[in-house]
Amino acid sequence: MAKYQINYACGHGSTEKQLYGKTSERESYIEWAEANMVCPDCYNAKKIADDAAAKKIAKICLVPALDPIISIEVNGQIEVNKDALYALGYRWSDSTNDGLLGYLTTDRPKRVLTLLAKIESEEQIAAWISNQQNKLAELGYEISDSLNLIDLEWLKTRMAEQKDSIAAQKNAKEKLAEIQTTDPKPHISPLRNRIAELEKSSGQKWNGKIYGRKGGYNFYVANTKYSATDAEVEQREAINKARADWEEKYKSEIEAAK
Ligand SMILES: [Zn+2]
Repeated sequence: MAKYQINYACGHGSTEKQLYGKTSERESYIEWAEANMVCPDCYNAKKIADDAAAKKIAKICLVPALDPIISIEVNGQIEVNKDALYALGYRWSDSTNDGLLGYLTTDRPKRVLTLLAKIESEEQIAAWISNQQNKLAELGYEISDSLNLIDLEWLKTRMAEQKDSIAAQKNAKEKLAEIQTTDPKPHISPLRNRIAELEKSSGQKWNGKIYGRKGGYNFYVANTKYSATDAEVEQREAINKARADWEEKYKSEIEAAK
């Protein structure tokens, strides 16, 4: 790590920058920066000029998130249209359009005016896009087709998966309920019930262990020692086995219902 003085490409002085990594990497960065980086004034002037001259476009982008979300990012002549875009709900956020390239070419991802929508179904998102498209058209923005085929495939797969997993869980639940009516799963043992009460009153979990041997069983909840009778322990073992057998017996049937 070291500090370097980097001359602006526009000739308006220099800036100090902390650089990390190998010497060869730092040198190539400096070379690139001195050929491309301009001073803040020139940068802002260029941005304003670029924005005023830019074509008005809106791009549909995938947002990297757990839920399938897409965004519309608007570009071009933002300065004169920003109030109208705010009114439509657009907010400043990091662009997801440039992807890795965006992170490589600038220190921070580009800030853009964005509108987000969660995808619930193909129909819902198609209607949402068409609605936004009409509103943007009034401002002179045209939606460009920036969702590529891979993105669209990914979206379709995600939506199909979501649908499938919801349906599978519902089917498994129904199957379980059906089995329970004809052959109910054995209830947990009275000893486990007693321990559950102790867990509830102490607010702490039992570690699942019964210590000792016949004639002297015990267990701990919240650092307090409790004893258990032989009958309680034997009954618990028998019931646990019956519960495990029940699960094993119906496992494939519940799995198959998914
Ligand atoms: Zn300059």
